[in-house]
Amino acid sequence: LAQLYGPLNQLGTVYRSINQSLVDTERLLKLLNEPTEVNDVPNAPDLIVQNGEIEFDNVSFAYDDRTPALKGVSFKVPTNSSVALVGESGAGKSTILRLLYRFYDLKEGQGRILIDGKDIREVTQKSLRNAIGVVPQDSVLFNTSIKYNIGYGKFGSSDEDIEAAAKSAQMHERIMSFPEGYETVVGERGVRLSGGEKQRVAIARTLLKNPPILLLDEATSALDTSTEKDIQKALQNLMLGRSSLSIAHRLSTIANADIILVLKDGQIVEQGSHKELLALDGIFASMWADQVSASEDPAPSIHSV
Ligand code: ATP
Repeated sequence: LAQLYGPLNQLGTVYRSINQSLVDTERLLKLLNEPTEVNDVPNAPDLIVQNGEIEFDNVSFAYDDRTPALKGVSFKVPTNSSVALVGESGAGKSTILRLLYRFYDLKEGQGRILIDGKDIREVTQKSLRNAIGVVPQDSVLFNTSIKYNIGYGKFGSSDEDIEAAAKSAQMHERIMSFPEGYETVVGERGVRLSGGEKQRVAIARTLLKNPPILLLDEATSALDTSTEKDIQKALQNLMLGRSSLSIAHRLSTIANADIILVLKDGQIVEQGSHKELLALDGIFASMWADQVSASEDPAPSIHSV
């Protein structure tokens, strides 16, 4: 499987046609032969991440050269801080993550994306993607042991490391509740894990990978309170000491983000901490008021954002 990493890194083009949400690379294993539209420049060096500072510098982007998806977006994710993206559907949140993961390269005049001051177009895709951990909305599991599914984050991990990652991801106790523990086969032909459990497996996997940068796409579906708490704790452990960019659908989960960026029609229209944005009494404040009243509703709608 280790040999698949190279080809896996070239799946941007395919990905676009099969899924609009953030990539789940495992799901793409079968599509390895497709060409890519992002190529490394000759003799590109590897990215060396020292601080993990991310910068979008006046980024504009259109998928089809007609409707712009991003228009002059500039922001920074300072070292080890968390930036959350909010905004209505189509505002450009996923596009920001896809560009950072280099599914598309920005062209001349479309701005720059920098990591520790280095333009990501100038480094190898492989080193870029090695530096980034992705926790997608819906993680796919291999039809094999849960141990393999977690250990896949870093081949050659010891049982102790796998268990420590599962503990940190709030998944160890659940795993131990299965008669075969870490050897339990999960997935289509094994134990079916819930969405929240699969996400915690993805978090454990990413903890093992230990990347300096994280991209997180929060699940849109509502989770019960205790699952939500477990996931928040797992994410807190994962985000500690890393720079992260997350897409948030439920505003309650990002109250602690260092910076919240509010996107509308491809532009950042508000930014600040949760407290600052509420005080601003603008778009974020009204989205927040909508969600609070929706959660008091007997049939809350999570799509009110
Ligand atoms: P959501 O919350 O629904 O996921 P989003 O804020 O993540 O939305 P994006 O997926 O970034 O929004 O989309 C931004 C814009 O780009 C939208 O107008 C969308 O229709 C368009 N877009 C996204 N993906 C493609 C694509 N593959 N081809 C053409 N247009 C696209």
